[in-house]
Amino acid sequence: MNHYDYIIVGSGIAGLYIALLAIERGSVLILTKGSIDDCNTKYAQGGIAVAMGKDDSPELHFNDTIAAGDGLCDTEAVRILTDEAADCTADLIKFGVPFDTLDGEITLTREAAHSVPRIMHAGGDATGEHIEVTLSHQVRSTPIKVLENCLASEILVQKDIVVGVRALDCHTGSVEDYSCKFLVLATGGAGKLFKYTTNSDVVTGDGIALAFEAGAEISDMEFFQFHPTVLRLPGVAPFLISEAVRGEGGILRNVEGRRFMPDYTVEAELATRDIVARSIVYEMKKTHSDRVFLDVTHLPPRLITTRFPHIYRFCRDHGLDITKGFIPVAPAAHYLMGGVRVNNWGETNIPGLFAAGETACTGVHGANRLASNSLLESVVFSKRVVRRTEVVAPSESHHTSDVSCLYSLPEHEVLPKMPMLNLPNLQSLMWDRVGIIRSGKSLKEAADILATWESLLPQPSDRSSYELNNLVLCARLVTEAALLREESRGAHFRTDFPRTSPEWQRHIVFKKNVIK
Ligand SMILES: Cc1cc2nc3c(=O)[nH]c(=O)nc-3n(C[C@H](O)[C@H](O)[C@H](O)COP(=O)(O)OP(=O)(O)OC[C@H]3O[C@@H](n4cnc5c(N)ncnc54)[C@H](O)[C@@H]3O)c2cc1C
Repeated sequence: MNHYDYIIVGSGIAGLYIALLAIERGSVLILTKGSIDDCNTKYAQGGIAVAMGKDDSPELHFNDTIAAGDGLCDTEAVRILTDEAADCTADLIKFGVPFDTLDGEITLTREAAHSVPRIMHAGGDATGEHIEVTLSHQVRSTPIKVLENCLASEILVQKDIVVGVRALDCHTGSVEDYSCKFLVLATGGAGKLFKYTTNSDVVTGDGIALAFEAGAEISDMEFFQFHPTVLRLPGVAPFLISEAVRGEGGILRNVEGRRFMPDYTVEAELATRDIVARSIVYEMKKTHSDRVFLDVTHLPPRLITTRFPHIYRFCRDHGLDITKGFIPVAPAAHYLMGGVRVNNWGETNIPGLFAAGETACTGVHGANRLASNSLLESVVFSKRVVRRTEVVAPSESHHTSDVSCLYSLPEHEVLPKMPMLNLPNLQSLMWDRVGIIRSGKSLKEAADILATWESLLPQPSDRSSYELNNLVLCARLVTEAALLREESRGAHFRTDFPRTSPEWQRHIVFKKNVIK
């Protein structure tokens, strides 16, 4: 069996950044199921938040993050996020990420729910692509071994300690085991759970499913962020129209051309994502339409083409000049706040197993992520993973959990009749019943179908069957958590419990076979 000090699963910002720091300390293998640059990171547009403007401070960034999280942020984790932001973004600059500058100074933009401009960006609105390409070039210039088209299919645990990972070669179908001292899951979120999503095809919740099966704790899965403004053009794949477009003055209009956000909230277009997404859904219902419009025609065309060159070109290539015409948009699934529960060092409850990036739940986002905090979370907590491995043996874990908030996935009766299980049916079920606006009834219907599907899943054999199995498990975790949480908070909204309840100012954590 091949042995490495570190095995990292995933090659987005979290996986690549950890690898570049870890190679200073030992041998590193990256397993990634597509090519190295297949990930969500390369789609990030807006940028990365860091308090470096003259009117800004880590304290102000802390306050904005806590406010967006709607009572569920882990305050210590948020303090770490905002205090260590400058150090980790300096690393990105050192690795060569070409952040945009003006007269030698990094330019900062403002995004919804940030109280000041604090978003660093690269290539205007192509931040993620620049980060991904820069870091992957750096990785190629080191002794880090990268296995592409290699899907992690099982975490290997011996005597309650992680000892390695099993992986499928997606081209040959062969399976191989790799052993390591430290296994890091950096597998991204689970956006492919939903019919409409901004996420890459590789984002299928694999790390969460693998960790759950191995006995790790999974937290906050009911909190799925839906991005309010995703391009809705017939025959065109969902394409994100960055938050920063509203930050620069973009206005939302209904299909009749009327500005509607001030009807819903005083923050109007700059309210948090959950509020804007729900307002758009209500407005679409009122006007019997599947879209609203984002209007930037009042902004100087030069601002649009220089600040949003990627969005401008993409729309123009699909027949829409956004300097002259409204952009048709609707919400889509975007970001999973929940994931593999980790402490402030990225440690899970299983010694030797770490998680970082979107697959991890560090607690910084609470019930709702503040825009541009996820690339930041990925680097801040990834760096802490590597720092931790310098001082602890793989068999030690300092993760603590409160058994009173742990749940097992409940049993359901197997339904005699239900839709056939395939990816489109799963995604439609999740969109229709576990989407932006939920109810106990819709969630219960989904939970019964998902449990029945899970009981009928065949043994996976190739990439798509592994991904489908992982998605079904993640769908169950999202749905059961949403059913348990009888309130509305952050991104989780239920029509039967439309208010926030102090009783629910706590986390829902799932673990396999919990014995209370
Ligand atoms: C359109 C879009 C725009 C965004 N804009 C911003 C923004 O402006 N600012 C911001 O902060 N955040 C933004 N986000 C969110 C942010 O991009 C992600 O949260 C972040 O990039 C996640 O990085 P990651 O390394 O955790 O995962 P990813 O970049 O998604 O990478 C996951 C990796 O894991 C691999 N993988 C998955 N499963 C397996 C497996 N079983 N075996 C092997 N490999 C596996 C994948 O192939 C991939 O390489 C945006 C997201 C999207 C989709």
